[in-house]
Amino acid sequence: MGVNDSTHHESGQAYRVIRSARRTRTIQSRIVDGVVEIRIPARLSKAQEAAAVEEMLAKVAAKTRSSARSDADLVARAQQLNRDVLENKARIGSVRWADNQRTRWGSCTTATGDIRISSRLKDVPDYVLDATLVHELVHTFIPGHGAEFWAWADRAPYAERAKGYLEAYQRFS
Ligand SMILES: [Zn+2]
Repeated sequence: MGVNDSTHHESGQAYRVIRSARRTRTIQSRIVDGVVEIRIPARLSKAQEAAAVEEMLAKVAAKTRSSARSDADLVARAQQLNRDVLENKARIGSVRWADNQRTRWGSCTTATGDIRISSRLKDVPDYVLDATLVHELVHTFIPGHGAEFWAWADRAPYAERAKGYLEAYQRFS
């Protein structure tokens, strides 16, 4: 096993690559004192190492971004989607993260326009969160899941891809 000193990525993130002879395929990373330690199989080429570093640092960056998603972010996002996707048809009461929604991704009380989004979605890609928000925003003016509902809900960018993501996520988490 060879240990390099930590290096700074162009993003500013410090990292260290550890080559392991015992490791055959898997690449793993963990953060130790602010440095991302990336463990890779010893046989990887320099180019493969560079790709692994990019991938792992991107994952760390995505995690950091998503853990910073606050209620205020959620409100801003909902308002922007209402403007951009729904022609301002949604009547938004409140929008908040909820920790108690284990079985649903989101909920909406049509009468009040109060939207709750499951905290489980805090670290999904943006398009998945957006599709979930659009779904609940549409419920502020259409309660059920009829054809008219989906005509609006499917306006979310990558709506179909988001449905596939959530189906798989449901299964594996
Ligand atoms: Zn629904």
